[in-house]
Amino acid sequence: GSGDSEGKVYQVGIDTTYPPFEYEEDGEYKGIDVDLIRAIAENQGFEIELNPMDFGGIIPAVQAGQLDVAIAGMSITDERKEVVDFSDPYFEAGLTLVTAASNNEITSLEDLEGKRVVVKTGTTGAKFAEDNKDEYGYEITTLEDSPSMFQEVSNGNADVLIEDYPVIAYAIAQSSLDLQIVGERLNGDNYGIAVLKGENADLLEKINAGLQELRDSGEYDEIINTYITE
Ligand code: GLN
Repeated sequence: GSGDSEGKVYQVGIDTTYPPFEYEEDGEYKGIDVDLIRAIAENQGFEIELNPMDFGGIIPAVQAGQLDVAIAGMSITDERKEVVDFSDPYFEAGLTLVTAASNNEITSLEDLEGKRVVVKTGTTGAKFAEDNKDEYGYEITTLEDSPSMFQEVSNGNADVLIEDYPVIAYAIAQSSLDLQIVGERLNGDNYGIAVLKGENADLLEKINAGLQELRDSGEYDEIINTYITE
């Protein structure tokens, strides 16, 4: 907490379109991540500017010093911990398979032989697909944002997509997407807020303190309940 962060505006990377975590509506950014980082900045007394970008560009932009913070439904992984430091976990997620609603031949990875699987660049879903490709014998198509993935499966260009469970469940509930969640969850993970590794101990400490304050005050639950209703 020295004076050198005074007046600084922290650049925050968010995914372009990832409701309920981040999205734009009526020219404003909304979502769980947007509300959380704004509330944290407010209670810790720092300024932020939001920078929506394709998910795949976010960690590289943190590494390049273009972003100070990333909050993008980003899963805490050991691989990412080599280049970023994560806050305390703030949301539980994990991957699932998704098919067209009319598809009743795919219910597990075993059914993916010769199928087309679509994933998003730089995500845990993309890594999962790569890691299991040889074992299950599918082909991978990689796209840059989630809506394009959803489109690709609903229009029949791909058989299945891999997405975070809370995100696809929200998308299906909110829209007329002709998609369904199939099979067991593929894994479980937690979202964290990322800063450049080894350079931002003060900022990370504030982020964790801010997050804790939101949990203690009930504001964390209010934010979640604004976007997700059981
Ligand atoms: N949670 C996933 C990941 O960290 C997906 C994030 C996203 O698409 N915004 O890779």
